[in-house]
Amino acid sequence: MVSRVIPVEAFDLVIFGGTGDLARRKILPGLFRRFCAGQMPPEARIIGAARSDMDDAGYRDFVRAAILEFDPGRPQNCPQLDSFVTTLGYVTTDARGEAGWADLAKRLRDGAVRAFYFSVGPGLFGDLAERLKLYGMAHRQARIVVEKPFGRDRDSARALNATLAQHFAEDQIYRIDHYLGKETVQNLMAVRFGNLLFEPIWSAQYVDHIQITVAETVGVGGRGGYYDKSGAMRDMVQNHLMQLLCLIAMEPPSKFDPDAVRDEKLKVIRALDPVEPHHIVRGQYDATGDEPSYREDAGDARSKTESFIALKTHLSNWRWSGTPIYLRTGKKLKARTSEIAVVFKDTPHSIFGADARSEGVGGGQNVLSIRLQPNEGITLGVTIKEPGPGGMRLINVPLDMSFADALGPEVEEVPDAYERLIMDVMRGNQTLFMRGDEVEAAWAWTDPIIEGWVARGDVPKTYDAYSAGPEDALMLMHRDGRRWREVKS
Ligand code: NAD
Repeated sequence: MVSRVIPVEAFDLVIFGGTGDLARRKILPGLFRRFCAGQMPPEARIIGAARSDMDDAGYRDFVRAAILEFDPGRPQNCPQLDSFVTTLGYVTTDARGEAGWADLAKRLRDGAVRAFYFSVGPGLFGDLAERLKLYGMAHRQARIVVEKPFGRDRDSARALNATLAQHFAEDQIYRIDHYLGKETVQNLMAVRFGNLLFEPIWSAQYVDHIQITVAETVGVGGRGGYYDKSGAMRDMVQNHLMQLLCLIAMEPPSKFDPDAVRDEKLKVIRALDPVEPHHIVRGQYDATGDEPSYREDAGDARSKTESFIALKTHLSNWRWSGTPIYLRTGKKLKARTSEIAVVFKDTPHSIFGADARSEGVGGGQNVLSIRLQPNEGITLGVTIKEPGPGGMRLINVPLDMSFADALGPEVEEVPDAYERLIMDVMRGNQTLFMRGDEVEAAWAWTDPIIEGWVARGDVPKTYDAYSAGPEDALMLMHRDGRRWREVKS
């Protein structure tokens, strides 16, 4: 089966921070892939805007080099790199000064969809919005794409929302969380709301618990100073993990439209219980071999910022009351993996006798695992009879819903999260972007947790680099008679 690529209309896309790391690694190679797929029209224009002094030709060379570095195989399979770079231009622009703005305004075409990607540090978001308005570029058809972090607590997020709202309407603001652009995350909604099968058992009555893990093998490395001001709670839980939780736990929206979906997500965030301090484990990775510890990476020998967090929470609503939710994320862990696991309850009674059962998570219980990386896909663990003459012994095996097999080899390569989301911006579809009230509500849940650590002078536990995190995180589950899914690639 060949998937359909629906071209978007011609657009003008300005990338503020067009020379930065995110633009080089993700945004520009992603746009090239959409160009190759025939989704980005040749009339589209991409304008890099940053402080570096460069002209159009220089920027084309710069982007060509970035694509060859970050997606080296692509230009061989898609010989359109020369045509792609002709869509590029560059204007030296200072977000905090007047340089470049009048020139930028002149470059934009009337009538074309226009979007401004704020791929710069969060301290500049307000300045950019203000100048776009000042120089007459913020007309009703304009859209802005705002990167994370969106504030560092509720007050700063609220202030940023208020600043943006002075210049743009909410339906023009695209707050990006690239986890929402992942194919499997959207498939999660298709599986939940496109099938009847799961809905009747999707509640505390049948679900024992939910666990969400986002594990990375990299440390904070060269960006330790920056990371140390945020930590795992702000950097990962408040946005990515909470967004995943929303999609797992929300009620079916009446339709798949931006506000219907986001209204339901907001209700999930608002239903989250405050987290008890003893239900949170924070960690910092230790030194190993000649690799530095977290504190050395952060450049602060007394840092109290967490590079790991595991916590247990609950949702106070009819569907989920009584089902614990465990969230876990960290740096320098054993494997790079992101997974949402919905662990169902055991059967009420075993007709085969206790000895026949395999035990634990992934043993007797059914687990629906939604893997975001590696090997994006959805797996359902089911109990079957172990083959052979050994009597009725039961084992748990994965019923693999491998989409690649089902859809056939010709299916178009799955777009990366960024490229999909940028195309959604051009189409004017906000479903996979966060609304202002959602972000504020997420901070309202995390703020008291962080304030509690500060008030208590909480110091994270040290954990071995490339392990599964601090021992206490394992205990958080063991105390409840449960265990984490293995962190494995
Ligand atoms: P970066 O430091 O590599 O690049 C910053 C860019 O902003 C550069 O192009 C620079 O020229 C430009 N810039 C700085 N000051 C400016 C000014 N006064 N006027 C105009 N341009 C200015 O940063 P990055 O890693 O590309 O991150 C950009 C944004 O994306 C940040 O908000 C970051 O939090 C977010 N983000 C980055 C990543 C990533 O993987 N790099 C991932 C998620 C989110």
